[in-house]
Amino acid sequence: MLPESSAWAARYFPSAIKLNVHDHIPVESLIINGAECEPYITCDDRLMQEQPEEIIGGIQIMMHIINAPQCLIGVEDNKPQAIATLQATLTAMDETRVQVITVPTLYPTGSEKQLIQILTGKEVPSGGRPANVGVVCHNTATARAIYRAIHHGEPLIDRYVTVTGEGITQPANFDVPLGTPIQHLVEQAGGYAQPDPQLLDGRPMMGVKLPSDQIPIVKATNCILITRPADTTPTVMPCIRCGRCAQSCPASLLPQQLYWHARAREFEKAENYHLFDCIECGCCAYVCPSHIPLVDYYRFAKAEIRTQRDAKNKAERARERHDFHQERLERAKREKAEKLAKHKQQAQAGDADDSKQAAIRAALERAKAKKAQAAASANAAAPITHSENAPE
Ligand code: SF4
Ligand code: SF4
Repeated sequence: MLPESSAWAARYFPSAIKLNVHDHIPVESLIINGAECEPYITCDDRLMQEQPEEIIGGIQIMMHIINAPQCLIGVEDNKPQAIATLQATLTAMDETRVQVITVPTLYPTGSEKQLIQILTGKEVPSGGRPANVGVVCHNTATARAIYRAIHHGEPLIDRYVTVTGEGITQPANFDVPLGTPIQHLVEQAGGYAQPDPQLLDGRPMMGVKLPSDQIPIVKATNCILITRPADTTPTVMPCIRCGRCAQSCPASLLPQQLYWHARAREFEKAENYHLFDCIECGCCAYVCPSHIPLVDYYRFAKAEIRTQRDAKNKAERARERHDFHQERLERAKREKAEKLAKHKQQAQAGDADDSKQAAIRAALERAKAKKAQAAASANAAAPITHSENAPE
C-alpha cells in the first residue's frame, strides 16, 4: 500500500501511476512544478534554463497521455531567467497550450497541494489526490526524463543536483549520473569549507542527516546541503501551548494536537486530526519556542501507523490462507468419503450381479438335468421288439 503523505507522494510517487488517470476523471490541467521545494535549492532553476526544449517536449507527451487541454508551469518569482527561457522556448515551438505562471517565492509553495491551490484556486481534499480536482502535477525533472525516455529510449540515469550550504567552498549545480558518490560532488565543488561539516540529503527544513559522504546520488536526491557543525543543540522544553505552530502550518492543521497524540502513541486520534495531510514542511518545528522536533514525531506516528496497517493486512491475509487451507482439507475429506461410498455401492451391485448369474446357471443346470431324466425315463418304458430273422 502506498503511503498517503503528500511529502512522500511529491517526492517518490511513481510517475506512471500519476499519469494513469481513469477515463471517467477528466483532467483540466497538467501542472508542472517549477518551484523549488525549499530554500537553498536551485537545481530546477538550472534545469529550466539549460533544458527548456526537453522539459516542454516532455510536457507535450504528458498532455497527450492524460488528454489535458492546458498546462500551467508554476515558477517562483526569484527565477526570472528560467521564466524568460521557458517563455521564449514556448514561442519558438509555437506551443500556445502551455503557460508559465509566476508564483511568489514563499515556502512551501513548491509543495504539490500548495502549488495547485495557488495556480488553480482548487484545494485537494483531505486524503485525496490532485486528480480529484481535475489536476495532474509533475515536476520539471520528470518532464525532461519522460522526453528522454520517449525520444532517446533512455531510462533515468542522471539528474541535476544542488551542492550548497555554508560548509562547501563553491556551491554549484551538477548534472550527474545516478550512483555518483557525494564525496565526488564535494570535491568538484571545491571541498569542505571547514572540518566536520554536517551533511543533509535534501533541504534545511525537510532534509535527512547523512552519516557520511560515501553515499551515492539516487533518483530522489535533489540537494546535498552542507552546513557548519552546530555549536549547541537546543534543549527541548515542554509545549507551552502558545499556538505558534498552528499559525504557521500551511496545511491548516493543529500541530500541537498531532504532537500530543503522536507522543502518547494515540495514533487513531492523530489520524482524526489529519496526520496524513501533514506535508512535513517543518514550519511548525521552526517556529516552536520549545524547540520540539515536531516533524520527527509526525514521521514516527506515520511510520507506526503504516507498520500497524501492514501487520493487520498480513494477519488478514494469513487468516484468509488458513481458512482456505481448512476448506481445502474438508473438501478433500468429503470427496474421499464420497468416492469410498461409490466404490462400496459398485461392489454391492457387482455382488448382486454375480448371484443373479449363479441363479440363472443353477436354473439351466436344473432344466438340463430334468430333461436328461425325462429322456432316460422314456427309454426305460419303451417295449422290446423281436426281429423276424432272429434265431429262436
Ligand atoms: S509552537 Fe511548540 S510550544 Fe507552541 S503550541 Fe506548538 S508545539 Fe507547543
Ligand atoms: S504540521 Fe507542521 S510539518 Fe506538518 S504541514 Fe503543518 S507545519 Fe508543516
